[in-house]
Amino acid sequence: MEKKYCVIGDPIAHSLSPDIYTELFAHYGLPGCSYFKEQVTVQTLPEFIGGLRARGICGFNITMPLKQAVLPYLNYMDPSAAYGANTVVVEETQGLAGWSTDAAGFVRSLHEHGHSFLDADVVFIGCGGAAKTLIRAAAKEARSITILNRTPDHAQAFASLPGVKILPLSNIGSQMNSCNLLINATPLGMSGIGADFEDLSFLAKLPEGAFVCDLIYDPPMTAFLTEAERLGHATMNGLWMLIWQACYAFEKFTGIMPDLAAFNAVKAVLGRQRQLPQ
Ligand code: NAP
Repeated sequence: MEKKYCVIGDPIAHSLSPDIYTELFAHYGLPGCSYFKEQVTVQTLPEFIGGLRARGICGFNITMPLKQAVLPYLNYMDPSAAYGANTVVVEETQGLAGWSTDAAGFVRSLHEHGHSFLDADVVFIGCGGAAKTLIRAAAKEARSITILNRTPDHAQAFASLPGVKILPLSNIGSQMNSCNLLINATPLGMSGIGADFEDLSFLAKLPEGAFVCDLIYDPPMTAFLTEAERLGHATMNGLWMLIWQACYAFEKFTGIMPDLAAFNAVKAVLGRQRQLPQ
């Protein structure tokens, strides 16, 4: 039986999701499954949701700016989607069920690099939708969490959590000394946005052995990661999280959790198509 899936967002042309899921469907021998991308705005979201069953769409992924906008349409919202859903399954009888697989994808990526939130002193740069989902996961395990945001008020939801400190981004230089896991969760350095860190000298204050992550995958090496590597730190770009979060979403769609071989097959396909590093 044919099963249709898609990713929705605005803009959507850049999305790598069709390449990822098409490879996963091929890897697991699911020729009846197909995946496409569709431009959907906040205004056209009700029409898209209303047409799901008639179009035979069994599930969909959600990207900017719809992760929060989709929540009111869910009949079941997993706690992981508290700050927005990225995966929705269209169930036969029970309606729409939504999750965010972003934190699971990021945590799995950390594990694959030999790191975790457990007992870590984590510094988040940024506190938008992606960061909030990760902070929610980190709060269960980390020793300390420092959130540096351009607008500190946007992090207030976490102010009462033990071990959490919220500061303006301008304080970054003084917050590196005890950090062993640094995560850029802003779009600074992303292709096409025209804004980047003006000064990366704060990275020189990181202790030896600190692991440095960027949620950005385009470009695969931001100036932030390049400088961290130059200083001798191990790094991870956003491609890992992008693929692993899709793997967890694939499990919601099909019941199959992709293994490392499937992950590597997807990574190789993206590398060939987009000249991303292997
Ligand atoms: P978002 O909700 O729009 O949040 C953006 C965050 O960056 C906010 O904290 C914002 O601060 C800050 N920011 C934006 N422009 C800034 C600037 N010029 N200077 C300083 N801070 C700035 O975005 P998001 O969905 O969380 O995404 C954040 C990044 O993660 C993006 O690069 C996105 O592509 C990436 N991402 C990657 C994956 C993956 O799978 N690899 C998944 C999700 C997101 P304010 O609070 O002050 O506005």
